[in-house]
Amino acid sequence: MLIELNFELEERGVNVVRAVDLSMLQAKENRGYHAAILIGIALSPGYIFRLSKENILDVSEFSEKEAAADKLAEWTADFIRLKGYKAYAQSERNLINGFYDVDTKATPLPHKKIAMLAGLGWIGKSNLLVTREYGSALCMCSVLTNAPLPIQHKPIIRPLCGKCNVCRDICPAKVIHGSNWEEGIHRDLIVDVYHCETCLKCLAHCIWTQKYMKKHLK
Ligand code: SF4
Ligand code: SF4
Repeated sequence: MLIELNFELEERGVNVVRAVDLSMLQAKENRGYHAAILIGIALSPGYIFRLSKENILDVSEFSEKEAAADKLAEWTADFIRLKGYKAYAQSERNLINGFYDVDTKATPLPHKKIAMLAGLGWIGKSNLLVTREYGSALCMCSVLTNAPLPIQHKPIIRPLCGKCNVCRDICPAKVIHGSNWEEGIHRDLIVDVYHCETCLKCLAHCIWTQKYMKKHLK
C-alpha cells in the first residue's frame, strides 16, 4: 500500500513521504493510532531567494503549499480508508474542529514531532523543523492510521543548530529566544508564538534553508 501511496503522492507534487511509528506515544498524543504518514512539499528555491535576498514579505507560496499538504493528507486518509483501515488527516480543517487548542495555539501531536520521529530533521531554535535536505522549506501535514505500514526506524537527530542564532537575530518581532530544543522543553521557552508575525524570515534565513536554496539555484 505504501508503494502505491508514494507513487500517487509523488505524482501530485509531494517531495517527502514517511511512514512513522507512533506506538511509543501516549494516547493523548497518538489518539490510539499506532502509525502516521508524514507528507512534505518543498518550497521552491526561487521563493526562498525572494524572501531572503530580496527581503519581500510574501506568504503566497507558503500558504498555497500548506493548503496543498492539507488537501493531500485528506486525500491520503480517504485512500487508506478505502483499503479498509482507519485514518485521520491532521489537516487544519480537521484539527480546528477537533484537537487544536485555540488558547495555546497547539495540537497534541504537531507534524514536526512526527517528522522528528521519522528521523527527517530536528526542531531548531526557530521552533521549526529543520532538515539537512530542505532546511525549513517544507510544508507538512500528517495522517494518523492503524494501517499496517512498513516502518523504517530511524534515529532521532539531535539539534544541529550549534552556536547559530541567525533565526533569533533576524526575527523582527524578537520572539525567538535562542534556546536549543530538548526532550520535554516547553515550546514557550523556545518561541513566543503569540507575538509571531508569520513573516517567514526565520524559515528563509535559516542556514540550512539557505544551503538548500544555494544548491538548487546554481
Ligand atoms: S515568522 Fe517572523 S516573527 Fe515569527 S518567529 Fe519567524 S521571524 Fe519571528
Ligand atoms: S537559523 Fe540557525 S539556530 Fe535557527 S533553526 Fe536554523 S540552524 Fe538553528
